[in-house]
Formats: sequence, structure tokens, C-alpha cells
Amino acid sequence: MKIRGISLFSGGLDSILACKVMAGQGVEVSGISFETPFFSAARARETAMQVDLPLEVIDITDEHLKMLHAPRWGYGKNMNPCIDCRVLMFQIAGRMMAERGADFLFTGEIVGQRPMSQGKNTLLMTAKNAGLSDMILRPLSAKILPETNPERTGKVDRSRLFDLQGRGRKRQMEMAASYGIVSWPPPAGGCLLTDPAFSRRLRDLFESNPHYAIRDIELLKVGRHFRINAETRVVAGRNSSENNMIEKMYAMGDALIRAESFPGPTVLVPGGGDEETRNLAMRLCLRYSDAPRDTEASVSLLFQGQTFLMKAIAMSPDDSEALLI
Ligand code: SF4
Repeated sequence: MKIRGISLFSGGLDSILACKVMAGQGVEVSGISFETPFFSAARARETAMQVDLPLEVIDITDEHLKMLHAPRWGYGKNMNPCIDCRVLMFQIAGRMMAERGADFLFTGEIVGQRPMSQGKNTLLMTAKNAGLSDMILRPLSAKILPETNPERTGKVDRSRLFDLQGRGRKRQMEMAASYGIVSWPPPAGGCLLTDPAFSRRLRDLFESNPHYAIRDIELLKVGRHFRINAETRVVAGRNSSENNMIEKMYAMGDALIRAESFPGPTVLVPGGGDEETRNLAMRLCLRYSDAPRDTEASVSLLFQGQTFLMKAIAMSPDDSEALLI
């Protein structure tokens, strides 16, 4: 009977090599990859196509957000709850393994490659806390890890697995050459939860709005953000591409502000805000525009389906800095 292994596939070289090692032992390999508003499966999709790997991409936003509010093992340097995140991914993968009748899971993780998240003990504890202690095989480092179920039961030949560890890439390059792999995708764009500025904004969102929507998270990826009062934040584009993105995210009920006659940011007030908030948003808009300082300038305000021509004076840099999230 065919042995089936599911790869938690990132699309990087190590995950490609892990798939090759498993396929080389006759295992029928498929991949899964996860996405949320904080990280994408784009690289996994692209690589899977190149290496002909059947890949399933699963949006885990709901479960991930729930975990993100109260991670059992806490956050890393920023809002990245990496241990909880890995445990969650393994749990979901474990469910899929059972549903699809696969024999085991495997990853391209290498012991010690990332000192914090891929230390030997961390690798073992994430699998254990996902309830999958010996069902997650790391083919590239298996020989320096305890034996797993697929090895013990003869589904996989442990003697043909590897003992890679540390940050060096030499042996991976040699393996890639032996499989005829000549190119692979660059490191992934990364996870926004490790970004200090994004993390600051996300924390502010969690603290200020328990009923936030996914659009609120998407907005955190664009522009400068200002906290005007407990209810309202304002977003200002930093360049024309961000201005366009902000305009696309405008929804009925919001206020949208632009400087008239001068280049400057598009400013969004999600939910529209009160009059005082909109006035401050107009002043912020002029602050980052080419409008003259200390004299009134015109701005257009789109609110409740109507466009109004308004006058305001640019906010001072010190005042805008004080509002910046
Ligand atoms: S960096 Fe992001 S995606 Fe990666 S484990 Fe940490 S929280 Fe999860």
C-alpha cells in the first residue's frame, strides 16, 4: 500500500529538499500551506507549481486571530507568537492528515537553523503540544532527533534520512545539486507580525477596537496611522501607490480627504469620525502635503456620499508626531 506524507510546505529550498527526500523513498507526497492577513502562501504556491507538488492552501485567519489575542507561550520580540503559531499549524495539519488518511506529516525544518524557533527542544515541544509527538518527521535533521512513528513502523527508512543542523547552507546546496535543482525562490517576504511598526499598529487596534474587521487589519499595512481619540484612527498614504490603495479601501460611512491644488496624501477616517476628528484629519492631510504652512489651504472631503470643499491649516510636525501610532 502506498505510504502518504503531507509536507507543511513553505516553498523554500529546505521544504523542496524534504519533499525530494521523501519522494525518493517512494512516499506519495502532497503539501499544505497556510495563509492569514499576516503572511501569504504566494511563495509556496509558486514553488509547488515549479516542482509539481499537489498543494492545498488553507486560510486559517479565524483560528490564528483567536490564538493571537492570548498566545499561551507569549509573543516574540514583536506581535509574533511563533511557538503558538507553529503548534496551531501542526494541529490543523494533524486534522488534515487524519481526514485525508495520510500516514504522517513532515517539514523542511533543520535543527538550529533559526536559534529561537528551530532549536531541538523547540521543534520537539511544538510537535508534542500539537498532540503529534512522533508523527512529524523532519527528514533533513531526523538522524539527530528522536525516532518518529513513520521511521519506527518502517514506512520511512531512517538510515536514508539526514543529520543537518545549524545555519550553514553548504550541505543543502550539495543536496540541491544532487537532485538537479538549480534555482529556488528567495526567502519569503516574511510575516508582518515580526515587523515592529506593524505590531505597534496591531496592538493599538486590539486595544481600541474589540469588534475590528479584517479590513481594519488590511488597513494596518498601508500608510501612516494616527490615533485621534479612543474610537478613531486616521490613515494617511505615504506615496501615490498607498494613496490608491487607501482609496480602494474606502467604504460608505468613511471620510476621505485630499489636498486640493497640492500633491499630498489621501487620508482616510474609517467610520467617518466626528466633526472634530475630520478637522484634525484635514490638518494632518495638509501637514504631509506641499501646501504652505501657517496659511489656510483647501481640502476636499468625501463624506456620506457628498464632496465638500473645506479650508484648514496644516498641523505642526510636533502635533502630528504626538498622534502617530
Ligand atoms: S513568524 Fe509569523 S508565521 Fe512564522 S511562526 Fe512566527 S507568527 Fe507564525
